[in-house]
Amino acid sequence: MTSFDREHTVVVATGNAHKLSEIRAILGRALPDMDFVALGDLGDFEDPVEDGQTFFDNALIKARAALDCTGLALAVADDSGLCVDELGGDPGIHSARWAGEHGNDAANNDKLLAQLDGVPDERRRARFHSTVVMAWADGRVERGDGDCEGSIGHELRGSGGFGYDPLFWPDDTPGLTMAQLTAEQKNAISHRFHALEDLAAKLR
Ligand code: IMP
Repeated sequence: MTSFDREHTVVVATGNAHKLSEIRAILGRALPDMDFVALGDLGDFEDPVEDGQTFFDNALIKARAALDCTGLALAVADDSGLCVDELGGDPGIHSARWAGEHGNDAANNDKLLAQLDGVPDERRRARFHSTVVMAWADGRVERGDGDCEGSIGHELRGSGGFGYDPLFWPDDTPGLTMAQLTAEQKNAISHRFHALEDLAAKLR
């Protein structure tokens, strides 16, 4: 493992550079003495099996795995997804691989459109949810939760973001899908932003 200051390092269990910078910006204000480092920058580790039943379970599995494989004292991980009322909260924790293959956004969006085919606007309510977990090696755990409320469109709109963004119309940005927002606009309303703020408030 690369050398670093063990006492002042928080391992972030994500391979996503964008998430890392969001986490660093928000949690860094609550923990100003700590460096936030991506797990992949500390070594080559296998992904844990995310077999939890909730966003919290899966975030905790990732955070604890990061503690175990690095031997560090503090880890952060998040888990998120889209919950559609008409589908009983699906795809939920299965969002990434809902249509079969992990991270196939086009197939996931096709499936969502098909499952909501003929469903009127008033029954297309949905939200993105994020749970962020901070885990300490001594067993302490703190969590933050956040939602971004909106509804599901009838066709793909916009080319920004990822995942279900082109089908999601946030209540906070009338007339624009999540995929039509700039990164700054999305960061200001996103489920992850709210979850990180929630966690940061508990750490202060
Ligand atoms: P993750 O836990 O952040 O990796 O998210 C799991 C899955 O949820 C992603 O693969 C996407 O399908 C969906 N998802 C999570 N956050 C977003 C978002 O901000 N926009 C669109 N889709 C998202």
